[in-house]
Amino acid sequence: MTAYENYMNVLKKIKKTTHRNIVLVPVSKYAKSSDMENLYNNNVKIFGESRVEKFIKKKDLFPQSKWHMIGSIQTRKVKDVVGNFDLIHSLDREKLALEIEKRSLDKSVISNCLVQVNISKEESKSGLEINEVEDFLLYLADFKNLQVKGLMTMAPYVENPEEVRYVFRELDKLKNKLKLKGFDYVNELSMGMSNDYLVAIEEGATIVRVGSEIFN
Ligand SMILES: *Cc1c(COP(=O)(O)O)cnc(C)c1O
Repeated sequence: MTAYENYMNVLKKIKKTTHRNIVLVPVSKYAKSSDMENLYNNNVKIFGESRVEKFIKKKDLFPQSKWHMIGSIQTRKVKDVVGNFDLIHSLDREKLALEIEKRSLDKSVISNCLVQVNISKEESKSGLEINEVEDFLLYLADFKNLQVKGLMTMAPYVENPEEVRYVFRELDKLKNKLKLKGFDYVNELSMGMSNDYLVAIEEGATIVRVGSEIFN
């Protein structure tokens, strides 16, 4: 199977699961460039990368692609992130937000961001705790060029994705609670990876990040 065939299979499964529009982000962090070319030449022009260095190496090969930053970002790397990504999924602290805002103002660009939430409370995962998100949004409210579009989470890896359904349900609940409180711009939910994206969609995901099922 080619990467594009895999991609189409994922799309088919998504369409069977929901009638909502879902953004499928092929995560290319471990992908061969020939597989990325295979998608690109079939008009799939959106890739998710978790490391800035890797993105820089690849971006010129795919000049018309959109890019999503999905991995944690060191503050000193922000200068290479701002202006290069359609969406930053991994906003997880004030210092990072300040740097994104500053660089975005310098470059006169808007940086669309998702606030990463650590629902499962795994030590190894970054992200705010559920009860910290509202204050963080209040802190970001005055920012001009950093714009929050929604929330992101990563579930722990488990054999049976049903075991992490609660993670996705909690993030959707948090979104609804925030909207009721007036944070009406919190619309996107980036949740679900190869192992669990269909469950995530059933629980309200609007964006899924799929790597290994496409680039195996
Ligand atoms: C690697 C990665 C993915 C894709 O994971 P797969 O299991 O390969 O689909 C999604 N989201 C993030 C944040 C990642 O780092």
